[in-house]
Amino acid sequence: MSATVLAGAPAALVLLEEARRRAAALPVQPHLHLIRAGSDPASLSYVRGKDRQARLTGLRSTVHALPQDVPLPELLALLARLSADPEAHGILVQLPLPAHLPPAAVQAATDPRKDVDGFHPLNVGCLWAGQPGLAPCTALGILALLRHHQVPLAGRTAVVVGRSPVVGRPVAGLLLAADATVTVAHRHTPALSRLTRQADVLIVAAGQPHLVTAHMVQPGATVVDVGIHRLPGAGGQFVLTGDVHPEVAQVAGALSPVPGGVGPMTVAQLLLNTVQAAETQLGRSAA
Ligand code: ADP
Repeated sequence: MSATVLAGAPAALVLLEEARRRAAALPVQPHLHLIRAGSDPASLSYVRGKDRQARLTGLRSTVHALPQDVPLPELLALLARLSADPEAHGILVQLPLPAHLPPAAVQAATDPRKDVDGFHPLNVGCLWAGQPGLAPCTALGILALLRHHQVPLAGRTAVVVGRSPVVGRPVAGLLLAADATVTVAHRHTPALSRLTRQADVLIVAAGQPHLVTAHMVQPGATVVDVGIHRLPGAGGQFVLTGDVHPEVAQVAGALSPVPGGVGPMTVAQLLLNTVQAAETQLGRSAA
């Protein structure tokens, strides 16, 4: 038996169409501001991808490329200016930041209504309180992927491996809001496999290549692989792989591929968050 493939591309297309439709219904074009500091190649390519997809979806997008040694007060001043600017609807600071810029201070400096990454403490609180707000894009993208492929969550046992503020924690909050029974595992969790084998829905966001192997998965479970790693392959080439070993496809009922699973959902969800932020700021509710 081979698991159903939880493909991200068709699910992302649905989100992008929704973002395009809701953006077109607004009196002004939603404007996303992308801020990056330094020249980390991965950050550069992520920001380029987000900028490109925003434009393709009918949004305005501006990239602010700051030097590696930008002083914290300068970055905070930019965030204050954009937070006060009625023509800026969404603000994203690409992580990771250079070491001298504390992420918590930066995240708290964005107007929560424009915080399209959902990292501001107010939005984190809203997520856990079950109140409306902006939630982190990858976590929302995982829920949208499961919804698209009609994976039921209410009353099911969900296990999340990883507790980062970017993926593990927010996806646990969203699964809870979707009426799943949720357990969160992390690097200090003993007997991980005993826990993961109980999962009807297993989300793996541990940043460890092939952490989850076939014996750790309940037969027929739905497995979402959030990891992405470049490992050396044959002939000096690289292969992209996730936190889940490919052999899991022989046991799971459904499995998200790497690449092409969660990846495309994150950018699509960012644009949907930007449209949602613009709607809120313009006093419109979602159509
Ligand atoms: P991401 O950005 O994908 O969430 P991070 O590196 O920020 O990844 O976080 C990794 C998370 O995975 C941490 O919460 C850590 O405790 C968890 N983790 C790492 N290794 C293991 C492991 N062997 N077993 C369980 N959890 C792990």
